[in-house]
Amino acid sequence: MIHQQPPRPLVEAPLQFRMSSGGEKAKQNSLAICPKCDAPAFIRRSTRVTEKVKHLDAHCTNTGCGHTFGLELVFRHTYCPGLIDRPDLDLPICPRDQVPHVLPPARDAGDDPNQLTMFAGG
Ligand SMILES: [Zn+2]
Repeated sequence: MIHQQPPRPLVEAPLQFRMSSGGEKAKQNSLAICPKCDAPAFIRRSTRVTEKVKHLDAHCTNTGCGHTFGLELVFRHTYCPGLIDRPDLDLPICPRDQVPHVLPPARDAGDDPNQLTMFAGG
């Protein structure tokens, strides 16, 4: 009889950026922040320039600002090379001691008001 291992749980990690407006939380996690007023910004359009560069057109969510601006999203480095070989891209590798170790939030850390829960009603 073959003893089967129980399936490993999928790794959970909170969403690290938001493109919605509102609150300090959204600002901290926003992908784009207006350089003039620090409000979160919407990405209105994006254009892939190369494999390693993308240009984003952003729009400040602060109605009292209204700044529109262009951003550049640039590939920085690889943490783990994955299974596809693309030596033509010449992607730099992150030094091992700088690779981030991102862990899921603790099970009892449920203080994030933006996190939906399936077990509400308590
Ligand atoms: Zn602004």
